[in-house]
Amino acid sequence: MSAALPLSPQPFPALPAAGQAPSAELLAHLAAESQRLESATPDEIVAWAHQCFAPGLAMGTAFGPEGCLMLSLLPTLAPTTYVFNLDTGYQFQQTLDLRDRIAAKYGVEVEMLQPELSVPEYEAKHGGPLYTSNPDQCCHDRKIKVLQRAAVGRTAWMSGIRRDQSPVRAKQPIVAWDRKFGLVKISPLANATKQSVWTRILREEVPYNPLHDEGYPSVGCWPCTQKADGEGDERAGRWVGKQKTECGLHTLEADGSGI
Ligand code: SF4
Repeated sequence: MSAALPLSPQPFPALPAAGQAPSAELLAHLAAESQRLESATPDEIVAWAHQCFAPGLAMGTAFGPEGCLMLSLLPTLAPTTYVFNLDTGYQFQQTLDLRDRIAAKYGVEVEMLQPELSVPEYEAKHGGPLYTSNPDQCCHDRKIKVLQRAAVGRTAWMSGIRRDQSPVRAKQPIVAWDRKFGLVKISPLANATKQSVWTRILREEVPYNPLHDEGYPSVGCWPCTQKADGEGDERAGRWVGKQKTECGLHTLEADGSGI
């Protein structure tokens, strides 16, 4: 599949210094590029991201099917991308094992980024695990803060979210300013479908989490993940019994930017 997509003839406006707000010119350029990329393939978008942002381009992955597919593209389309996993200390062993399977097949190394406190330290500090009593705080401490740390010195990050995964993700632009992390955010699979992702994974024999074959439509931390039907709602097995549907990494403000 060709990944050649001409860059916009408009020069890329300067990215803001750390902690500064993006210029109106940058936001307008990102919106125009996002619109232009609506008809591009995931491969073209990954290659575009690399052209625009390497060597400051990063990618976060929880080793979901979309992330694994994107990891398979990196060696040819975005080889200098820095890849990280938010290693909360609560991931399934099958998820951790995927890191090695991906490295063996594609030579892509994923750095496991841990929160400040280990699980025993964190649970001791709070008198027990927070994933039941205050999962928002737990996700903030063990995911958001870790990504904020990883964002330092980067210019952009890619994630594998799809618009049809949930109502919260439905408005995700392909390219936008992510205010929460002070980076440009690129979602090359925003327009992909569950079927298109799985068709390609199986055709190209991309390694994936075996828990999907055991009835887990979406795999996160083990305390907050259950088996589910997943036909109507792919996120059905996450935070079961709670209002929570997202860890906060991909939530948007009304204007479409990350909070
Ligand atoms: S998904 Fe659950 S265990 Fe993982 S960080 Fe969030 S609340 Fe904590």
